[in-house]
Amino acid sequence: MAPVEGTYDYDLVVIGGGSAGLACAKEAVQNGARVACLDYVKPTPIGTKWGVGGTCVNVGCIPKKLMHQASLLGEAVHEAAAYGWNVDDKIKPDWSKLVSSVQNHIKSVNWVTRVDLRDKKVEYINGLGSFVDRHTMVAKLKSGDRTITAQTFVIAVGGRPRYPDIPGAVEYGITSDDLFSLDHEPGKTLVVGAGYIGLECAGFLKGLGYEPTVMVRSIVLRGFDQQMAELVASSMDERGIPFLRKTVPLSVTKQDNGKLLVKYKNTETGEEGEDTYDTVLWAVGRKGLVEDLNLSNAGVTTFKDKIQVDTKEATNVANIFAVGDIIYGKPELTPVAVLAGRLLARRLYGGSNQRMDYSDVATTVFTPLEYACVGLSEEDAVKQHGADGVEVFHGYYKPTEFFIPQKSVRYCYLKAVAERTGDQRVYGLHYLGPVAGEVIQGFAAALKSGLTINTLINTVGIHPTTAEEFTRLSITKRSGLDPTPASCCS
Ligand SMILES: Cc1cc2nc3c(=O)[nH]c(=O)nc-3n(C[C@H](O)[C@H](O)[C@H](O)COP(=O)(O)OP(=O)(O)OC[C@H]3O[C@@H](n4cnc5c(N)ncnc54)[C@H](O)[C@@H]3O)c2cc1C
Repeated sequence: MAPVEGTYDYDLVVIGGGSAGLACAKEAVQNGARVACLDYVKPTPIGTKWGVGGTCVNVGCIPKKLMHQASLLGEAVHEAAAYGWNVDDKIKPDWSKLVSSVQNHIKSVNWVTRVDLRDKKVEYINGLGSFVDRHTMVAKLKSGDRTITAQTFVIAVGGRPRYPDIPGAVEYGITSDDLFSLDHEPGKTLVVGAGYIGLECAGFLKGLGYEPTVMVRSIVLRGFDQQMAELVASSMDERGIPFLRKTVPLSVTKQDNGKLLVKYKNTETGEEGEDTYDTVLWAVGRKGLVEDLNLSNAGVTTFKDKIQVDTKEATNVANIFAVGDIIYGKPELTPVAVLAGRLLARRLYGGSNQRMDYSDVATTVFTPLEYACVGLSEEDAVKQHGADGVEVFHGYYKPTEFFIPQKSVRYCYLKAVAERTGDQRVYGLHYLGPVAGEVIQGFAAALKSGLTINTLINTVGIHPTTAEEFTRLSITKRSGLDPTPASCCS
């Protein structure tokens, strides 16, 4: 029987204890609501599972950044020799030590998260939630089913990696959900997919001394500026990471020696090929976790395994909202999920009217040479403003610290995509080089505040940094002048 209005167990039940759900639940409690947060992780096909905190903490941003850092440190040790450090050049990473360090950090974050929820009086329920009606949910717990009623629900269930529909994909392949806790060295790895997750994983695997190959069906870094995306791919190729272009996998089988035989096909020539690998990593996209929710019981409609919401994160059912990766058509990033979750709670319980602004969100691809951007890609700027309405300022540059170890500067490049006339409002900034996220974060605030080319080039740089290169941009693509630098300090 449906609960009587006003007699619910909770004001708010949040389904999903990841970045979006936790931020929303904690903010709602601080604004006086009685809140429960359900979180449940289904194990991967090879049995990997993890604690509360969602994708970012357990199998996303955090372990990824730590492994990227491990890989950069290996590179730094080699560079140190050029700077005069006496280092043994036979340095080798210990995969199991790295995994246990990363996992220990994650476990400590899981612990802090649970303590924080207890302190903030959010009831954490380790159960899989599914709707009975629009005010009632059943949580499947270890100890049995529990029925929970609430005035309001927030769906923040996020997503999980997809597996391709080919023989052997699920039996023998792994995904990013398994990689960061893998109990053996990945070895020679086929990374299928050239989105940011695939490229980042291939990048740190190479830096750690393994042999990744990236298989690309169509384009690299879909959704990103394609000139920058191709530079990222070339910079990886230069480091010895091969790309199998226009290629799709056909099957994976396990050989007697334990190696994985992957058959594949070039989609342009139709030519088939095969190779053996120690690991096959699927990075072919993610799907929203709508299936277990029984959304039809609550009347919530879905769209391509996601949920469509309005500008207040409301679904088509009045008391049910959705935030984070599960919503359709918005950036799938932790800070987006956190801010949207927090703002939703403030609107629901804090009397706020502030809506989430999903535009001009900065992001970074943590490849060996990092790429960060904010605002429009060059192609989107041209689409929106016409080729005649857009001016692109660009330049190659040479990071000072690259000279002594003679690191390649070939792909250190940046550009500002701007209005062609008038104030020359900056539409987008793109940077390929060291510490890209740190460089772009501040510029993101400037861009959101209406940055113009005039302001950018009249900003005094910090020397010698790579971020200052944005203040030195003077060559437009349209001019056809050579964008390679002549001098460093004048
Ligand atoms: C490898 C990788 C690297 C990434 N790197 C970055 C990065 O560098 N920067 C960045 O900003 N973002 C990054 N992301 C994206 C980021 O992790 C996500 O955008 C973010 O975690 C989304 O948060 P969320 O709360 O929407 O979902 P999630 O964090 O996925 O949380 C959803 C939670 O709900 C649980 N759940 C699902 N269904 C139910 C149910 N029916 N009942 C109960 N619980 C349920 C899930 O198990 C999960 O714990 C990365 C992602 C991956 C996979």
